[in-house]
Amino acid sequence: MALLSPLDGKKEIRLKDIDPGFHASLTEEEAVARSQELLAEMRELQNLLYAAQQTSVLIVLQGMDSAGKDGAIGHVMTGLNPQSCKVASFKQPTPLEAGHDFLWRVHPHVPAKGTVTIFNRSHYEDVLVVRVHDLAPKQAWKKRYEQINHFESLLADSSTVIIKFFLHISKDEQKERLLAREQDPAKAWKLSAGDWHERDLWDNYQKAYQDAINLCAARHAPWYVVPANHKWFRNLAMAETIVRTLRPFRKQWMKHLEAIGEKARAELAEMRSTQGSTHQP
Ligand code: AMP
Ligand code: MG
Repeated sequence: MALLSPLDGKKEIRLKDIDPGFHASLTEEEAVARSQELLAEMRELQNLLYAAQQTSVLIVLQGMDSAGKDGAIGHVMTGLNPQSCKVASFKQPTPLEAGHDFLWRVHPHVPAKGTVTIFNRSHYEDVLVVRVHDLAPKQAWKKRYEQINHFESLLADSSTVIIKFFLHISKDEQKERLLAREQDPAKAWKLSAGDWHERDLWDNYQKAYQDAINLCAARHAPWYVVPANHKWFRNLAMAETIVRTLRPFRKQWMKHLEAIGEKARAELAEMRSTQGSTHQP
């Protein structure tokens, strides 16, 4: 049984009903060991993805401040070859970006065939922070759910596998993490007084996240709510979800690679058969 189930739009969820401290009765030790195995498999699958050049993978990461987006990326990246993997981070739009439609800045970063891209925040900010802070009129952001669905359908129709993670932490856990940041010289650079103001808007954000998840979940672009109070469970659950999503492609990629290999062998054989060829084994 998978640790996380895909939300594909069939069933609505309430974030309140999902326990951010869930860890499937696993210990940290067990989770870390299992994660290592999965990361090894991820590396292997990514090699095939890269070689076959048939599919691309987009991983969208969303979550409140301190939910663990940076940590999760660091962990997942240890299972990916940087040669064909990128991270794109989306911050407050620049004036140029803000002068365009909200997807303008996003589209150039989607992964090419054979590659993986992780979005650290994403186009979803335009129905999250924008909605919570009234940065656009309601009639503008309300339309965006459908616009996002069209955008993601377009990507899926162009052979992009989409996996969307919401890192779900509790309000108490966030407080602990923000306070811990203040104490840790290596993490204090991440501090922002704004994080505490955002925290005051916790319920509004939860509602906005819930709507984004319920309105923009599809079979070709499922959301996964990741219980993220335990970092080791978050890492395991994400690694498992990525591997389980990619595993079914293994056969298709292998078949394609074997066909390419066959063709290359036939060309070699033909070259060697020509009179006077010096390229003999
Ligand atoms: P961080 O992830 O801590 O580097 O912060 C990035 C900040 O940029 C967050 O506060 C986001 O809410 C904000 N941000 C990202 N996208 C947008 C957007 N489209 N409009 C407004 N703010 C955004
Ligand atoms: Mg921040």
